[in-house]
Amino acid sequence: MTDRNLKIYDLLDAQHSHAECELDYGTPFELLVAVVLSAQCTDKRVNMVTDKLFKVASTPEAFDAMPIEELESYIFSCGFYHNKAKAIKQLSRSIIERGGMPETREGLMELSGVGRKTANVVYSVAYGGNAIAVDTHVFRVANRLGLVDAKTPELTETGLMQAFDEDKWSHLHHLLIFHGRYVCHSQRPDCGACTLREYCKYFLSTSGVSNDNETL
Ligand code: SF4
Repeated sequence: MTDRNLKIYDLLDAQHSHAECELDYGTPFELLVAVVLSAQCTDKRVNMVTDKLFKVASTPEAFDAMPIEELESYIFSCGFYHNKAKAIKQLSRSIIERGGMPETREGLMELSGVGRKTANVVYSVAYGGNAIAVDTHVFRVANRLGLVDAKTPELTETGLMQAFDEDKWSHLHHLLIFHGRYVCHSQRPDCGACTLREYCKYFLSTSGVSNDNETL
């Protein structure tokens, strides 16, 4: 891990020390459902939906038994509700057939409809594993900062895992999400309020400012 990457990590941590998963959940299974619902939807909206949903269903058995139309009626406002309802029903059945919720990333990825990003979130947040889930914020901020130079989420994940010590992976994932959500916006990054300017490849390449820290 280079001094530059450690400095970036420390600056992110100083700015977003409280960074953590913003989805509300009571069990690993509830988190899994919430992560599925969060695709293309804000965490705030998901929390409003799950606040009602988890009162009527919070186990794989309950979701398996719930008619899909009823499930859709609860999750409608999260968008893509047909696909999300189907995914929740499928992963619930998968868990029942396996005899329980898997606790490893590999086991989570074996569940029907659960991809690498979702498995990484549940593995790191619910089970305390070391993993970097690459969503749109992590992908954008990691590439803008020059922590990686990657064209896909998979390559971004691999690059970040190589660039940082394993015990920093999970918190780094939250730091990059918070920075992307609240400072380094997709369309108009708030570089004026950002403490990472002198280390940021994107800022240095677009502002005309040169700084040796970029290549440390
Ligand atoms: S300096 Fe600007 S582009 Fe770079 S991380 Fe900060 S907000 Fe994002």
